[in-house]
Amino acid sequence: MFDLEIINANVVTPTNTYKGSISIKDGVIAAISEFPLNNSVRTIDAEGLHLVPGMVDQHVHFMDPGETSREDFIFGSSAAAIGGITTVVEHTHAVPVRTVEGFNGKIEHLKDRSLVDYALTAHVFPEDLGNLRALWESGVKLFKIFTCTTHGIPTLNNDELFRAFKEIASFDGRCLVHCEDDAITEGNEIRLKEQHRFDNGIVSEWRSDIAEEVAVANVALMVRMTGVTATIAHVSHPFVIDLIKREQAHGAKLYAEVCPQYLFLNEKDVLENGPFAKFTPPARTEEQSKELMDLLNNGNIQILSTDHAPSTIEQKKAGTIWDCNFGLPGVETTLPVMLNYVNEGKINLQRVIEVFSEMPAKVLNMYPRKGCISIGSDADIVLIDLKRKWTIRNEDIVSKAGWSPYDGVEITGKPVTTVVRGNVVVENGEIVGEPGVGKHVEQVNKSFVL
Ligand SMILES: [Zn+2]
Repeated sequence: MFDLEIINANVVTPTNTYKGSISIKDGVIAAISEFPLNNSVRTIDAEGLHLVPGMVDQHVHFMDPGETSREDFIFGSSAAAIGGITTVVEHTHAVPVRTVEGFNGKIEHLKDRSLVDYALTAHVFPEDLGNLRALWESGVKLFKIFTCTTHGIPTLNNDELFRAFKEIASFDGRCLVHCEDDAITEGNEIRLKEQHRFDNGIVSEWRSDIAEEVAVANVALMVRMTGVTATIAHVSHPFVIDLIKREQAHGAKLYAEVCPQYLFLNEKDVLENGPFAKFTPPARTEEQSKELMDLLNNGNIQILSTDHAPSTIEQKKAGTIWDCNFGLPGVETTLPVMLNYVNEGKINLQRVIEVFSEMPAKVLNMYPRKGCISIGSDADIVLIDLKRKWTIRNEDIVSKAGWSPYDGVEITGKPVTTVVRGNVVVENGEIVGEPGVGKHVEQVNKSFVL
């Protein structure tokens, strides 16, 4: 007898779509059949719905512990579940994980605070390079590195960066690198402030495409030289992909990540909406955002994430455009925005699953436990109504942010039901699970070769 059977679904994987039924036992997928087995405690009829593996969001900031007035794990993971995300990989800049003690303390703190499964990212500080191996062996899944002092996290200079990459490569760890050149962004800031600039235009000039390109060129080169496996976080313009491809061609184990705000928004939104479109690197031109979509489609960008970094409306309005927090809420809108693109014919659903579920799971050694519909995989499943028409509204946002950059946007396609290891946490768009269902992802599948 199975615990749950989802019947009559259109099962979608990156390589295949078929009509079928999925039976779940003890949190894992125990059977996949063409017709219902009718041998389970509970049955969900998914007639007319698409069944996909839950999204694996490798880049979220749930601010817990830390800045819990912006977000916390209960709100953030509830929003993620609504958005079809079943695993998050989290890091919070205000209380960065830097030591094994800090890592264990955070895992303990989060025990009853998540609706979705989670793993943690540690921050790399220049003076902490000696801690990295122990952190990895304790279960950290990713290291976050900055090439510019941002959000209170110090930059690594080239010497430190090279040594950090060497060290992480020595135990085959994984890292996510925020690429903006520290000296260039600092110089831009000084000059713009000398001109007493406080208009929204400073965001794009301060966090220039040149700063990003120089940093990516540098990082990509060192990734290749050191043999580390790394992902360039949130690429904002297509030139960066050329630099990544050049080093990939020379053997670099290098991946590119993009977020929907770089596909959907552009510099006009930054000028118009200031704090509410302030994230870094910023959105560039409309033409470049279209090119990024092509690059995501054709395989040159391999990973989609949300970079969920919420602030409330009051927090966004506080201070000048220089002072207000960077970042946007995104966990509950990213899959819907992508489903809308699917309906517009700009990307297909299989590719969305590949970049937002399978690839991050693979790169972070969680595959095929996560990011996969196959026997033995965790029963992390999302049911999608691809034809549902609805409108994103600030008042419906579950995140503590309480707003969305897509407020008022009409969307076709909605994740309606979310299952985390066999537990139904969202049903018909409503949260039905309790915090604590989500667990820390302990197991790392070291045998998977990219
Ligand atoms: Zn981030």
